[in-house]
Amino acid sequence: NFKKTFRSGSIIFREGEPGTAAYIIEKGMVEIAALQRGERRVMALLTEGEIFGEMALIDDGLRSATATAVQDTEVLVINREYVRDRLDGTDPLLKLFLHVILKRLRELDTDDRRSQSERNPDGERHRDRQQAWDSRDYVLTQLRFQQDLLNAFERREFRPYYQAIVSLETGEIAGLEVLIRWNHPVRGLVSPDEFIGVMEETGLIVPIGLWIFEEACQALLRFQESLPHGRKGPPLYMSINTSSRQFLDQNFIGRIGSVVYDSGVDPRHVVVEITERVLMQDPDRAAIALDKLKELGLRVAVDDFGTGYSSLNYLHRFPIDVLKVDRSFVSSMLLNRKSQGIVRALTELAQINHMEVIAEGIDHRDQINLLQDYGCRYGQGFLFTRPMSEAQMSPLLRT
Ligand code: C2E
Ligand code: CA
Ligand code: CA
Ligand code: CA
Repeated sequence: NFKKTFRSGSIIFREGEPGTAAYIIEKGMVEIAALQRGERRVMALLTEGEIFGEMALIDDGLRSATATAVQDTEVLVINREYVRDRLDGTDPLLKLFLHVILKRLRELDTDDRRSQSERNPDGERHRDRQQAWDSRDYVLTQLRFQQDLLNAFERREFRPYYQAIVSLETGEIAGLEVLIRWNHPVRGLVSPDEFIGVMEETGLIVPIGLWIFEEACQALLRFQESLPHGRKGPPLYMSINTSSRQFLDQNFIGRIGSVVYDSGVDPRHVVVEITERVLMQDPDRAAIALDKLKELGLRVAVDDFGTGYSSLNYLHRFPIDVLKVDRSFVSSMLLNRKSQGIVRALTELAQINHMEVIAEGIDHRDQINLLQDYGCRYGQGFLFTRPMSEAQMSPLLRT
């Protein structure tokens, strides 16, 4: 994607041409006009931040209007190939929706133009059109947000943060989980809950996820350096989140392997966190991916355990090393006997399957004793440390 400038009065594309690109206006103004019964009618005047020319790009149709710069205008060009790539990687259902929405938009567009004088637009039609525009808005907002995220990635605004995973018995830091943050120039630190979803939908999570692996492996080497020499217990490890989109990507596992090996960390000190949902979605594919991870020597943890539609029956089928009991059960266990029972049952289940257990979201001392009674040996939560930068974490490892 690149920028282009159109002088005032020049035509960006013409009605009836095949579409090769969509445009986002950075500066200036663009007029969208179409012929109706031989007469030229202006449909819209678009300004900064608005997008046009996207329809022909997605459904291969011809331009339904002519776009003219009415001021000197700077646009960001989104090429057809770029959109193709994204679309190819998109969920087939979403792709279908997109095509249906566009088809309706085109029909409504021509209907609307014909109906101006001939028919009274009935309410039904109007609502359809509104809905179509609402979905268009949604798609465009996503596109724009994705572009923001891509720019942020190029400007190096993402930061790895680290949260300690602690031995409940000794209080020693056994491992670290890397949690991404967006250091936004205006908004400050933005939580991943606000952007991981969009990154997954658009596929951006794949390159960014690899970058996180790189950063986290490099940091692990430095963290291990800073440990005191007499430290007991197993070596410090790094736990890294992956989403289903990453995990089911054909090349992802191989690439993770190269990143880990190139970094020089011992692969046994890297834990790949997956969610229960990945196992349930496509158990056969998940099993193959997990076997590959194990061949590479990496460890595997199931994150947010207990929240998915239980993979309890499947659990023994997969080579899983660690279960992370979801925060929702741990944080309510002091108030709620049912949560206590769930945490206990999940811990026992893990032990039967020879898996380690980590309780997430510990924020109260009294939770520790209960968890230890159940046989849970590790925990994570604000009581121990919040997620923090490498510079803040390093001193905690030295003591
Ligand atoms: P998660 O993997 O379940 O991460 C744990 C989340 O719980 C983190 O939120 C952490 O800050 C929060 N947390 C930890 N201890 C406590 C506690 O005692 N109380 C409370 N209230 N919260 C606690 P965060 O950092 O906002 O991350 C949210 C989610 O975003 C993560 O949930 C994970 O699913 C996703 N995520 C974060 N970083 C990455 C990444 O690098 N890649 C991918 N694919 N997903 C990521
Ligand atoms: Ca996690
Ligand atoms: Ca979790
Ligand atoms: Ca989560």
